Amino acid sequence: MFIKLLTMEKTTSRKKAKQSSSSAKTTQEMSPALHEFFIDELKDIYWAEKHLTKALPKMQKAATSEELQNAFADHLEATKNHVARLEQVFESLDEKAVAKKCEAMEGLVKEGESIIEDTEEGTATRDVGLIMAAQKVEHYEIATYGGLRQLAITMGHDEAAGILGETLNEEKEADQLLTEIAESKVNYEANNGE
Ligand code: FE
Ligand code: ZN
Ligand code: FE
Repeated sequence: MFIKLLTMEKTTSRKKAKQSSSSAKTTQEMSPALHEFFIDELKDIYWAEKHLTKALPKMQKAATSEELQNAFADHLEATKNHVARLEQVFESLDEKAVAKKCEAMEGLVKEGESIIEDTEEGTATRDVGLIMAAQKVEHYEIATYGGLRQLAITMGHDEAAGILGETLNEEKEADQLLTEIAESKVNYEANNGE
């Protein structure tokens, strides 16, 4: 009887341990290393978004077609919002909003600048190049926000997950709009030598 009780107790405690490892944990139970990694990645994308607010006006100015100019202007406003949303995310985690240089975004923006240098002003070919450069940026952001949102869910940071998800959707929309501009117009104009 005594042995049986002991065995039962063991089974229950094992069950409990299994439950807590598979479901979202509270802040106290979280892995400190993963949390630190999560915060570091937030600092990286915070720098990246701020950097983009400086790059997008240059891309807008360099664009030939009005549609693309408008797309860059709209995405500048969206990007300012993304910066503000990240500040909300930091706040929800009781962390200071600190920017940490993102080498990837610096490189992607540099590529965009060299496309402007290598193409002629007022041509559709320049727009083709600008769209490709901008889509590389959007895909980097989609990967980042997608990963961060999922990590926030895993760690039980529900408020952060919701905010990151909003931005993720806007990055996807921006990417789709760029595809539409390329496929409905700009690519064909460039192919016709315009
Ligand atoms: Fe963004
Ligand atoms: Zn980065
Ligand atoms: Fe973006």
